[in-house]
Amino acid sequence: MNEFNLNKIIRPNIQKLKAYSSARDEFKGEAEVYLDANENPYGTLNRYPDPQQIKIKELLSEIKSVDKNQIFIGNGSDEIIDLAFRIFCEPGKDKALTFIPSYGMYSVSAAINDVSLIELPLTEDFQIDINSLETYLGDENLKLIFICSPNNPTGNCFEDKVIQYILRKFKGIVIIDEAYIDFSTKESYISLLSNYPNLIISQTFSKAWGLAGVRVGVAYADSKIIEVYNKVKPPYNISTLNQEVILNKLNNLAQFEIEKNIIIDQKEKLEKQLQEIELVKKIYPSEANFLLIEVSNANEVYNQLVNQKIITRNRSNLVNNCLRITIGSEIENKRLLRALQFIDVASSNVESSF
Ligand SMILES: *Cc1c(COP(=O)(O)O)cnc(C)c1O
Repeated sequence: MNEFNLNKIIRPNIQKLKAYSSARDEFKGEAEVYLDANENPYGTLNRYPDPQQIKIKELLSEIKSVDKNQIFIGNGSDEIIDLAFRIFCEPGKDKALTFIPSYGMYSVSAAINDVSLIELPLTEDFQIDINSLETYLGDENLKLIFICSPNNPTGNCFEDKVIQYILRKFKGIVIIDEAYIDFSTKESYISLLSNYPNLIISQTFSKAWGLAGVRVGVAYADSKIIEVYNKVKPPYNISTLNQEVILNKLNNLAQFEIEKNIIIDQKEKLEKQLQEIELVKKIYPSEANFLLIEVSNANEVYNQLVNQKIITRNRSNLVNNCLRITIGSEIENKRLLRALQFIDVASSNVESSF
């Protein structure tokens, strides 16, 4: 049994913290005259937004089958990641851990918060090496483990038995970043929330939901963790405009499903067509909306695509000679394929022939 004790791992200053109580926190409900928040009485966006984003949480609670108090809405996943460091990690003392290659924000956020990040390499087939992790699990100063599944940029999910082993064994917080879960054949870990009081699941409206410009991410966790998140967040972290856009989207799930399925369909098509292209050496299986492909000379292929005004993500510093290609519209994907066909394989081989 996991002897997880939330109070033991929250920073003492955060435990002592009394949350700012806004005008909209103190009076809830409907009134006729609002003279409590020094707002301007004129205009349409003159009022402060709902600090608790109740309407969004009510819809998400139904859609995801969780309680409203197990939901936190953040200014992108970035805010969810940053708050985790600020709530649990004493700067200059505590540590966090993640696996590489993975999402770059964990290390940036760790550095901003002066927390040292242990980066364990994934195995050859991009899985977690449980033996190398084992020695760290007992470290008193290790507070956070980030698991990105499906993983960016490798595209695969991690083995469920390994993830659940970590959740059982580790006495700190495990954050599963599910930014790409909507594209995946695997289930979200939301259904296991009640089993693991140390689990935070991070999702986002930036990928499958098509709202990267809106900056909204969602954390699902035990209500005691969510309480602390609410205490630490800026009072009005999600604007009225953003709340409205999210509500519209959540009220039109059929459209969401259609768009998502088009992208998944396009991914399968693109994968088949890429297999026909000579300079593509390998296509990694993907549970996300991108494909990681190995080419003979990633820098050269990347530059030649840039010359044709097509931007991919050069990941060759993380995975040798690999490009990460986001699934675009049908027209965009066709343009990519045509561009790749025009790249001179001979010249893209130059470096590897040395
Ligand atoms: C894109 C992405 C996110 C999304 O971040 P937002 O701040 O919500 O836009 C989160 N995690 C991973 C691994 C991603 O690739």
